[in-house]
Amino acid sequence: MSPKAIVFTDWDGTVTLQDSNDYLTENLGFGKPRRLEINDDILNEKISFRDGFREMLESIPVSFPECIEYLLKHIQLDPGFLTFYKWCESQGIPIIVVSSGMKPIIYELLKNLVGDEAIKNIEIISNEVKIDPETQKWEIVYKDPESSFGHDKSNSIKEYLAKHNYSTNTTSLEDKGNPILFYCGDGVSDLSAAKETNLLFAKHGKDLIKYCIRENIPYTEFDSFKDISEKVIKIVEADGENINEFIENK
Ligand SMILES: [Mg+2]
Repeated sequence: MSPKAIVFTDWDGTVTLQDSNDYLTENLGFGKPRRLEINDDILNEKISFRDGFREMLESIPVSFPECIEYLLKHIQLDPGFLTFYKWCESQGIPIIVVSSGMKPIIYELLKNLVGDEAIKNIEIISNEVKIDPETQKWEIVYKDPESSFGHDKSNSIKEYLAKHNYSTNTTSLEDKGNPILFYCGDGVSDLSAAKETNLLFAKHGKDLIKYCIRENIPYTEFDSFKDISEKVIKIVEADGENINEFIENK
């Protein structure tokens, strides 16, 4: 039987409070001012997310295992995520992480912050990393190198739905029997996923909202997974009938 809903979510700055890659860039790489310059260039479409993000990561002079060790000390979980995850588990609702980050980092943080069991239950669709065994130099390996996002999240969502024999037509909930699809995110890289689900949760005060307003993409705001949890429960209980009531930029 199909689940009642599927929750796709960004990882950095959404499931975790800090963005791991920004954190590494600011604290171990070339620092915040340069990162913000690149971020502005990405927002203003002067460079692609893919190229800007690679430049940030290339400024980090530390080995990959040291990066992970550093992040495990500093990155915190969203305060509402654990409760939300447990509720989803109890309802048979899958959570899928769709990330522009690198899989080994997400894996270690998920194991550490949520637990061993979460590794089995939460699928991670993300970029990878390549480490040179001699020099220990590492670089990001994009899942979709042709895409200006490096990881085309909309493509990953469509692939997931097709693989599980769900309809990829998410423009309406009329196709009953298809689960209600949610996406949660905060940043530029989530823009590629923004139109692929029935409701987009966009983090309060972050870049994704600026984009949604500019591009007229419907969204509902959240501060933490406590808000997401409340709204998702109400929508699932109403079989999605009330979903449009949550859209803030109609
Ligand atoms: Mg993010």
